[in-house]
Amino acid sequence: CGIVGCTGNHEALPTLLKGLEKLEYRGYDSAGVYVNGGDAGDFLVRQQGRVALLEEATKGKGITGTAGIAHTRWATHGGVSVENAHPHCSEDGRFYLVHNGVIENYDELRDTYLQGVTLHSETDTEIAVQLIDKFAKEDELSTLDAFRKMISLLDNNSAYGFLLMDRQTPDLLYTAKKKSPLLIGISDDGNVVTSDAAAMLDVTQYFIELMDGEVAVISKTNVALYNETGDSVSREPFYLDIDA
Ligand code: GLU
Repeated sequence: CGIVGCTGNHEALPTLLKGLEKLEYRGYDSAGVYVNGGDAGDFLVRQQGRVALLEEATKGKGITGTAGIAHTRWATHGGVSVENAHPHCSEDGRFYLVHNGVIENYDELRDTYLQGVTLHSETDTEIAVQLIDKFAKEDELSTLDAFRKMISLLDNNSAYGFLLMDRQTPDLLYTAKKKSPLLIGISDDGNVVTSDAAAMLDVTQYFIELMDGEVAVISKTNVALYNETGDSVSREPFYLDIDA
């Protein structure tokens, strides 16, 4: 239902939690956050109910790291539970994914590609992250190519805003969208991704709009956009002239 992510010079957790709070008006049933702490480890916290409860659950865990992703979920596939809350993680803990929207052919993809993979949720989203992991491993694809291959298998009725992280590239955010809004926010202190500009107006008022079918790879100093066929695209940020 709502997505935020950031990579930059500051601790990610406060930015992510604040972003989720600003998305609360949209409605949701559960929320979660992932922060890559490098040597300090991976921090994944998920919770049913209000963002305040998620915030409470993050306390005392020593969460640290300058890149992360977070999500408020409106369940479409799988009931409302902690296991079904995003971010979803691949089997070996390498990839973390949040998703807005619906993957209509997820059961067919599961049956075709994921025999023998132990799934930890009932969601369509987990299928996507397990596919990325499988393509990265078995086809030895780069994360960008594994992400693009997964997207190419989604049927036409599917809708997505995806935001992905890979432990092996801890400061990068990978994002893509179709029929679901996603903006990339640009600032001197780092870059952000959000499904709703309102969630990130404290960080920046400069945004790049991602178009349907495009994929972006974002570091704290750079944004690389690619179209559906993999060619580089360039697009200037626009200034969103509203009060934070
Ligand atoms: N289809 C996904 C799920 O049910 C994402 C729902 C959403 O957009 O929040 O987990």
